[in-house]
Amino acid sequence: MLNNQGRPTQPAANDAGAMHATFTGNRALMQEEPLLFEIGRADVSGVDAPAPKAVASRLGAHARQGEIGLPGLSEPEAMRHYVRLSQKNYGIDTGLFPLGSCTMKHNPRLNEKMARLPGLGDIHPLQPVSTVQGALALMQELSRWLLAFTNMEAVALSPKAGAHGELCGMMAIKAAIAARGESATRTVVLVPDSAHGTNPATAALIGFSVKPVPARADGRVHIEDVTPLLGPDVAAIMLTNPNTCGLFESQIQDIADAVHAAGGYFYCDGANFNAIVGKIRPGDLGVDAMHINLHKTFSTPHGGGGPGAGPVVLSKRLAAYAPVPFVTRDGERLTLVEHADGESFGRMTAFHGQMGMYARALSYMLSHGADGCRQASEDAVLNANYIRACLADVMSQPFGERPCMHEALFDDHWLKDTGVTTLDVAKAMIDEGYHPMTIYFPLVAHGAMLIEPTESESKASLDLFIATMRDLAFAAKRGDVERFSGAPYHAPRRRLDETRAARAPVLKWTAPAPIEPAQKAAE
Ligand SMILES: *Cc1c(COP(=O)(O)O)cnc(C)c1O
Repeated sequence: MLNNQGRPTQPAANDAGAMHATFTGNRALMQEEPLLFEIGRADVSGVDAPAPKAVASRLGAHARQGEIGLPGLSEPEAMRHYVRLSQKNYGIDTGLFPLGSCTMKHNPRLNEKMARLPGLGDIHPLQPVSTVQGALALMQELSRWLLAFTNMEAVALSPKAGAHGELCGMMAIKAAIAARGESATRTVVLVPDSAHGTNPATAALIGFSVKPVPARADGRVHIEDVTPLLGPDVAAIMLTNPNTCGLFESQIQDIADAVHAAGGYFYCDGANFNAIVGKIRPGDLGVDAMHINLHKTFSTPHGGGGPGAGPVVLSKRLAAYAPVPFVTRDGERLTLVEHADGESFGRMTAFHGQMGMYARALSYMLSHGADGCRQASEDAVLNANYIRACLADVMSQPFGERPCMHEALFDDHWLKDTGVTTLDVAKAMIDEGYHPMTIYFPLVAHGAMLIEPTESESKASLDLFIATMRDLAFAAKRGDVERFSGAPYHAPRRRLDETRAARAPVLKWTAPAPIEPAQKAAE
């Protein structure tokens, strides 16, 4: 079966899998797992609940007439269903996860042990503060580390992701501009072409208009492109450093000075902080606000869409506008400031943020120490450059063969005239047992392939990855298009119609028509 891009979604007749089709659809230990609705039965339950005593329904005409239709499973069936689903995950615990811009970092088990300590794992956000002094101390200590790493004035811990942190930082900037009485005039936010999509989205969400800063051939933002855009209408610039091309913004200080001179603020997207921890402090570069993705830099899990944590550090110029809650010392005791008075812009979350992530991040910091955190950054940069250098003769780099930070960016120039695309390479990596790298981001590189190994990969694991990528590159160049065009051949599902999945998602399961018994059909 082909999707509307002409790619197969089912095993082709000549596939090893199809030739040896199994009765169950399982492929050895790769087991098919239907939906609960397909394997469950309405008359089965895994729980022995006592039959309810006669209850008089007060719903009248609103009472349900038919069966509820929820599937039931025996206890082992329910367990197998969820364990099998969990085994379909590819994660950092199963292999190298080269997704650039996302930093899929090893999460040491020590962090998990700390987060599960009963005194941290079992507390409730509504407990009286007198009973959670340890948790508040942990939040304060984490804040102290974040401020030391960044040389900033204040930190807001509560944002729950990087994008949420961007929102927090930009709301602080908006509040500062309002306090200056310039809300009506400072309405523009400058965002480079290479920015993560969340940057312009954040600025637009709170009513700023976004002006792009053009990309240069060297992948960096240049002061000459920023200065002409500055004026009394500019509220802020949102700059990522290191940027999404994996490069350090070398003119960042000049840009910060120019933005400040024009009366604007400097928001730094700190998602790539893991490349520079202990090497450079954003506060020294003139940054006014920056989010830190604990789930990228300080080794807490990304957790399938949440919970992440995106604390925001703020400069002296913005500290007064920080959101509540925050921890303060009141004599012998720690206490939470819960109500915004003064200049604070208010509150972003119902409670205090992701306590489990705070515990994991602090555990990572304390177990590494400041020097260890710095070494993690150095090793991340070394590993990325090792991959970059070992692939430089077979894959092309959009901004020349120069050292990168924590991630190596390639484009698809090396695939020219091969009939193989960036997407094809990514799919062929699945057959080799690798999660693909980030593809088609950043947009400033044509057919981008963004590879980030992180610091925790051994040289042996990097060497195998490099050898695999080289083998794929040679195959593409020698014209072995078939290895790519139908890939993945060995995955339980073939190439999906991603456009249709995004545009016309089927979100509701509907029961198929009952199958006619064979004899009856034959009659
Ligand atoms: C990951 C990332 C973000 C968003 O962070 P989330 O935690 O996913 O919301 C923003 N900018 C850059 C450069 C990123 O890599």
